[in-house]
Amino acid sequence: MRRPPPSLYAFCLPLLAAPVLAQAPADPLVTRMASVLEASMPELIAFRRDLHQHPELSGAETRTAARVAERLRVLGFEVRTGVGGQGVVALLRGTRPGPVVAFRADLDAVRSDEPDPVPFASLTPGVRHICGHDIHTTVGVALATAFAAVRSALPGAVLLVFQPAEERATGARAMLADDVFSLARPVAIYAVHTAPLEVGTLGVAHGPLLAGRDRVSVTLEGEGDLDAALAALADALRRIGTITPAEARGTVPPDFVLVDLAPPQAEAAGHRELMATLSIASRTARAAARRQVEAAARRVERPGVRVSVSYRERVIAGVTNDSLLTSRGEQAIARSLGAAAVVPLGVVSPRFSEDFGSFQEIVPGAMFLLGVSNRERGWVGMPHSAGYVADEAAIRHGGLALAAVLLDRLRRAD
Ligand SMILES: [Zn+2]
Repeated sequence: MRRPPPSLYAFCLPLLAAPVLAQAPADPLVTRMASVLEASMPELIAFRRDLHQHPELSGAETRTAARVAERLRVLGFEVRTGVGGQGVVALLRGTRPGPVVAFRADLDAVRSDEPDPVPFASLTPGVRHICGHDIHTTVGVALATAFAAVRSALPGAVLLVFQPAEERATGARAMLADDVFSLARPVAIYAVHTAPLEVGTLGVAHGPLLAGRDRVSVTLEGEGDLDAALAALADALRRIGTITPAEARGTVPPDFVLVDLAPPQAEAAGHRELMATLSIASRTARAAARRQVEAAARRVERPGVRVSVSYRERVIAGVTNDSLLTSRGEQAIARSLGAAAVVPLGVVSPRFSEDFGSFQEIVPGAMFLLGVSNRERGWVGMPHSAGYVADEAAIRHGGLALAAVLLDRLRRAD
C-alpha cells in the first residue's frame, strides 16, 4: 500500500465494538482448520516476529522469501521461487475434484527511521514493517498450515502467491510477466491488507476499495503562446478533480477524481510539457476523467500550438473487488468469525493505492481489510504511520476468515 495520508482513515474513526468470535463454525473442515490454527499460533507469531525483525525493501526480499519457501515445502506444497524477482508461488493439491483458488500476500517493508515501538523491533536500520506485510505473509503461512492439515479431504487446490515489491507497485506485474500461474491457474484470487479497524474485524467493499493511478502527459509544441496554453490547460485539469487535496486526506465515496499536477519541468523553446497523476477508484469516473482530459487538451489547440496527449490508465492498478466473490466471502467470514466481524466499507481513501488489481485484471479477485488496531491497548495499525502497531491476534482472525473464504470458493462448481 502506498502514499499514506497524514490523518487516520475516517472509516476507522467510528471505532467498532469488539466482535464476538465465539460462534462455532459448523463446517467440519473449517472446524479442523480453526483448531490447527489455534495450536499453531505461537509458531505463527514467532514467524511473524522474525519477519518483523528482518524487514527487507522492495526487490530485496531474499531472506523473507527463503523463510516462506522453506515453510511451505515442509508443509508439502509444490514451491516455485524467484518469480518476478523474489516472488514465491506454492501449490497444494487436494485429493478431491475442485477448482484452484489463490491467496496473495506481499513480502516487502518500508523505509522508516522512526523507532519501532515493539519489543521485537526491526534490526535493520531505516527499514520497518509499517504496512503490515509481515502480517499478510504470516496469514499466507497460516493458510498453508491450515489447508495442509485437511489435505486428505480437500477439494481442488490452493495456490499461495507471495509477491515482492508491492511498495513500488511493480511486483504484481513482474510476477504476471513471469507466468505466476504456471503451476495452476486459479478461478479466484483473494488478499488482505491491514487497516486501522479494530482487531477481530474485516472491512468489506463490494467494488472499489483502493484507487488506481493514471498518468497524463500533455506536450505543447509550436511557435504560438505556449505558456498561455499551458496555464489554461493546467486550470482545466485541476477542475477535473472532484475533491481537493485536503479532502483526499480523509475518506470519500469511491466516485472521486483526485488530480495532482506535477511541478513544471525545464522548458525548451517551442516545447512545453504538463504532467499529472489522477487517482481514481471507479471505472465510470475513470472513463469520464479521461474524456475530460482529452477534451481540455483539444480546447487549447490553435494555430501555433500543437497538442499531444499521452494518457496511461492504471499505472498503479488499484483494487476493485469482484462483487460475487465479495458477497460470498463476506458470508463465509460472517459464518466463521460472527456477523459482527464484518465491517461494510462505503468509502475509500484516495491517497492509498495497491497493485493487487494487476492480478484482478487476469482473475476475479477480492481484497478484504484486516483490522489490526486495538483501542484498549492504544495500538493503531495505520499503514505507513511512524507509530504503526498491529495486534498479532489479527493473524488468527485473518487465517480463520480467509480459510473459510477460500474453502467456500473451492466447494463451488461455478
Ligand atoms: Zn501495504
